[in-house]
Amino acid sequence: MRAAIFHENGGPEVVRIEQVPQPVAGPGEVLVQVRAAALNHLDLWVRRGIPIETTMPHIGGCDIAGVITDVGNGVAAERVGERVVINPGLWCGRCRECARGQESMCERYRIFGEHTDGGFAEFVAIQADHAYRLPDDLSFEEAAALPVSYQTAWRALVTRARLMPGEDVLVIGASGGTALAAVQIARLMGARVFAVTQGAGNVERLREMGADVVYDRATTDWSRAVHADTGKRGVDVVVENVGAATWSGSLRALARGGRLVTYGATAGPKVELDLRSVFWKQIEVIGTTMASRSEFEDLLRMVFAGRIRPVIDTVMPLDEAREAHRRLEAGGQFGKIVLVP
Ligand code: ZN
Repeated sequence: MRAAIFHENGGPEVVRIEQVPQPVAGPGEVLVQVRAAALNHLDLWVRRGIPIETTMPHIGGCDIAGVITDVGNGVAAERVGERVVINPGLWCGRCRECARGQESMCERYRIFGEHTDGGFAEFVAIQADHAYRLPDDLSFEEAAALPVSYQTAWRALVTRARLMPGEDVLVIGASGGTALAAVQIARLMGARVFAVTQGAGNVERLREMGADVVYDRATTDWSRAVHADTGKRGVDVVVENVGAATWSGSLRALARGGRLVTYGATAGPKVELDLRSVFWKQIEVIGTTMASRSEFEDLLRMVFAGRIRPVIDTVMPLDEAREAHRRLEAGGQFGKIVLVP
């Protein structure tokens, strides 16, 4: 089968299209013909060589939708032909965290496509209970836009930040996939949504998506503006995934008793934290990653009911995987970049 693969860490140029052996469905697994696979920042980190245990050569791609074409031992043959989306979270199912339904805190938590080979290929084999049947009206491209971004945003807002209806939430870097997911989910939860992005086009698109107040970081000091726009109070929740470039502004934007939830650091992981602001304003800094099985299923129910529509920036052929890496790296996208084999 064809796959976008790299044999060494480096820039987008290390990504090549090659013929590799097709995977086989093992016991309890399904073989999925990939119809769409979306990119995440995670794919860039893995390609550059963040210090994690991964396969090398490596096929990236954690966000996968496709059709089941074969099943392994112990899986119902009727599943062949099913259109599915894959939950890429992998957990042990036996540890204390798994037992209390906190799978993404599992000590052996891994991500399909990050720690293993993934979906930038024609086929993948995955545990059958990780492949969820899609409704007919959801396209493969939309489904592939979901798993990583939307489950991360769901857990961040619903479980970790405990966002309540009527609260004010500020989403930083709101043109990337997970931040846009956060805007959509926060709206669905009945919050007032503030967003920071760059460029008049992105400001307009975020307004169309229902963000109540959108700041262009190129022209607005958003951490001050948000105080003015909340009656000098600040926001209840900040959703952070940028890191170094926005951290101090994000802390300043919080109201007393506010919660900052972070799941990424696209602009760098090292920040300063003035503890006086933490205790005096009584704020919480909350980390989160991916989601539990039940959170993923809650999210799918909302999407399948048509309450959330994934946002797609571009659909490109798998053969242009290198170009897709460049596009995500450049940072100008609005929503997910999806590859189609
Ligand atoms: Zn576990």
